[in-house]
Amino acid sequence: MRYIQKVSTPQFFIDNTAEISKWKEYPVSKKPLKEHILKNEQNYLCIYCESKVELNNSHLEHIKPKAGDKFPHLVFDYNNIVVSCNGNCHADDEEHHSCGHIKDNEYNDTKFLNPVELIKIRDYFEYDIDTGNITESPKDIDKAKYMIETLHLNDGSLPLARKKSLENFIKKMNQIDKNKRKNRLIEILNKENIAFVSFLRFKYKGIL
Ligand SMILES: [Zn+2]
Repeated sequence: MRYIQKVSTPQFFIDNTAEISKWKEYPVSKKPLKEHILKNEQNYLCIYCESKVELNNSHLEHIKPKAGDKFPHLVFDYNNIVVSCNGNCHADDEEHHSCGHIKDNEYNDTKFLNPVELIKIRDYFEYDIDTGNITESPKDIDKAKYMIETLHLNDGSLPLARKKSLENFIKKMNQIDKNKRKNRLIEILNKENIAFVSFLRFKYKGIL
């Protein structure tokens, strides 16, 4: 998981929400909002698992749930709205295996690590490079564990997808002239726009 810097609330969102009081009254097409967030904030990666997503396999996600009576004041708070994958980017079926749909209305105030608030959110997690599993770092085991379990970040298909992403990255790096490789690797990983970038950065943390 990585920190996401929200941009200022876009004018079209202010206009679209000025006269409504319920989320379901938001204009039928939510594509412009999704596109705005994916393009300007998330580099077309899922907020939680960092899978590459497009408009057709992602959804708008309220970090602090829009249902229930805890956060009604945040339903139209742009800073509470992000884009999640549908939890089936790497699966053979349409079921939701991880991320926003699986999290649903779960939000434990004392444990949730919020990617739009915590600049150092990456420090809470480590990875097993061999298995592709995400694990908790010693920073706060309880919170990291809660996040991994709530979002199902080690769902059957995700560890393998992380490993594949690393394999492809290594292949790409091997095509680059040896003398330029290290600088190019740092440059690419700092762009934060490839799938599972936190996993890749963890693998190369010694040189970043
Ligand atoms: Zn995801």
